[in-house]
Amino acid sequence: MNEFDLINRYFKRGAKCNTVTLGIGDDCSLVQIPQGQQLAISVDTLVADVHFPANGDPEQIAERALCVSLSDLAAMGARPLWFTLSLTLPNANEQWVGAFSAGLFRIASQFGCELIGGDTTKGPLAISIQVMGSVEPGKAFTRGGAEPGDRVYVTGNLGDGAAALAIMERRLKADSESAHYLNDRYYRPGPRFYEANALIGHVSAAIDISDGLLADLGHICNASQVGAEIFVESLPLSAAVLKCASTQQQHQWALSGGDDYQLCFTVPQQHVAAVEALIDQGLKASVIGIVSREMGIKCSLLGESFATTTTGYNHFG
Ligand code: ADP
Ligand code: MG
Repeated sequence: MNEFDLINRYFKRGAKCNTVTLGIGDDCSLVQIPQGQQLAISVDTLVADVHFPANGDPEQIAERALCVSLSDLAAMGARPLWFTLSLTLPNANEQWVGAFSAGLFRIASQFGCELIGGDTTKGPLAISIQVMGSVEPGKAFTRGGAEPGDRVYVTGNLGDGAAALAIMERRLKADSESAHYLNDRYYRPGPRFYEANALIGHVSAAIDISDGLLADLGHICNASQVGAEIFVESLPLSAAVLKCASTQQQHQWALSGGDDYQLCFTVPQQHVAAVEALIDQGLKASVIGIVSREMGIKCSLLGESFATTTTGYNHFG
């Protein structure tokens, strides 16, 4: 099977959204940016045995790759529109590509994002996905808008990604229900579009947590020229993490474990009531700290200073 058969068979599907004038098959695709909107663009590369196990389930690898890429759009408050896929494969293994394609399109249709092009080459397994979305001018969440006194929030639970990885690497034992939940969180870290959309207008800065809370909140702090205090007792933890790990381990995963793809965002005092009302109506988010004037991130546990040692993952660190 050659490159073009592979593309036609596994990646070319009829255009679904009316913003796509010309889809896969020509030198470029042609798209229409919704009127009055800005384009939000981000690219992520996942390399075998760095970001995922090379012998992992291709369907799960595809699901995770697209979720992780889409998470950047959610972190900007953008709505997903299109994506491109650059796939480097060691060989044209149809079974592998078929399963990969099934996982990819499952997530693509779940979040309404259409595959509009890509590139297919031979080499060590790597996946590069570029996502494009739309956002109203002036409404995007950046990292640079946090002010002293703003509340720090996160969506969902923290530490699930790190716990899932610990199970995969046989450092943690879990009952089958917890293991199933954590595995799902690792391979399908659903981008928080629902939450981001509900929060538009109430957020001063935001980021998605890929490298751990301390590292990613650190990016908000640097970009905003502020610091933060985190209340460790307020870090939201899943039932699975609470059940399977020691308190110390839970804290470490929630603060420094990566792969959660929850959003960390800051809310100015005058918007806190609106955000709390959204939470009362079912939005999954919790307040975990406060932005401070003094640079750096401090942690406390029930009022006592809490020492942290590890920071997030750094490829060249
Ligand atoms: P070119 O030589 O002009 O770069 P290609 O042969 O690389 O074109 O690709 C042919 C068409 O197939 C293009 O429309 C391209 O966007 C699409 N394509 C190639 N690989 C993929 C892929 N992995 N997923 C989706 N579309 C792809
Ligand atoms: Mg090409």
